[in-house]
Amino acid sequence: SYNFSPGPAALPEAVLRQVQQDMLEWGETGASVVEISHRGPEFLEVARQAEADLRTLLAIPDDYAVLFPAGGATTQQALIALNFASPGQRVDYVVTGHWGRTALKQLATVDVNIAASSEDDGFRTIPARASWRLSKDAAYVHVTSNETIHGVEFRPAWGPVPDTGDVPLFADFSSNIASEPIDISRYGLIYAGAQKNLGPVGIAVVIVRRDLLERAGHPRADIFNYASQLRAESMLNTPPTWNWYVLGLTVRWMIEQGGTAEFDRRSAEKSALLYEAIDGSGGFYRNDVDPAVRSRMNVPFFLPDPALDAPFLDGAREAGLIGLKGHRVLGGMRASIYNAMPVEGVRALVGYMREFQARHG
Ligand code: PLP
Repeated sequence: SYNFSPGPAALPEAVLRQVQQDMLEWGETGASVVEISHRGPEFLEVARQAEADLRTLLAIPDDYAVLFPAGGATTQQALIALNFASPGQRVDYVVTGHWGRTALKQLATVDVNIAASSEDDGFRTIPARASWRLSKDAAYVHVTSNETIHGVEFRPAWGPVPDTGDVPLFADFSSNIASEPIDISRYGLIYAGAQKNLGPVGIAVVIVRRDLLERAGHPRADIFNYASQLRAESMLNTPPTWNWYVLGLTVRWMIEQGGTAEFDRRSAEKSALLYEAIDGSGGFYRNDVDPAVRSRMNVPFFLPDPALDAPFLDGAREAGLIGLKGHRVLGGMRASIYNAMPVEGVRALVGYMREFQARHG
């Protein structure tokens, strides 16, 4: 079957087969991959290789550090304020969907300025850069590169990566990291929960310009201190070793597949197939997002009558197409087509959509 789940999401079959084998006995260790010490030479090599491969995959410059913290993207949303803003300092947020709004909820002790928001139009657009009201003295500007629920992504048709001057740009890349080449140097910090394009849930990736780590931030516990974590190579405490290991396999798989240039090409092909099917359905299927910012990773769509949702999902499941139910805040359907989704999966979905419309249209 093809799994369109938004996250935890489908992983490449080759990765899962490797994991299955290593779960019983990993290499020469005589133990399962989940049974070995994070301080032993085998795991230290896994961690080193995962970082080296991620640096290759994303072309991460040397003046950027990479952290592999336990926990999800939401945890990083809280930690970025603690690490980079002093108590009461101004931080700027551009809110373009549910996850940008969630990020705001993690801020307790800073002065938040909503520099721009598309909430009034139901998060179907991204406000033009010229309309953002940025603060000169902000610790950072935060954007959500791809809104997983609303299906809104910063795309070249909207404009280049926003220039925020001397204030560093921080971006939540949870649901579109590694889907195309990006210029990391345009950002001060990028973070992503792993469970979409990078591997299993339980670990995140933070890519941060090293000089920013010298900022004072809030007084904070050592375990919440990114600089301490970097000094300890993300092992201040026992890290989620299994998750880190699977992340490493997934990153390696992406390199072997041709890297971000290849996933850029595949994402363009897959998303075009799906949007063409929706737009070409004579109004039976609907996606209301401004075409300039339609996500290539998450494609929400609606049927003409919510009463058709259940039959659509039932038929899809019978056809081997799972994980299509939309998020509860939006309803309808959503197809998440991350890097591990082959184009054949999208073709199968589009075929099913046509057939369903022929029966119910
Ligand atoms: N940001 C984005 C863009 C997401 O898609 C998600 C989860 O789906 C989150 C943040 C929250 O991630 P987590 O559940 O890992 O905290």
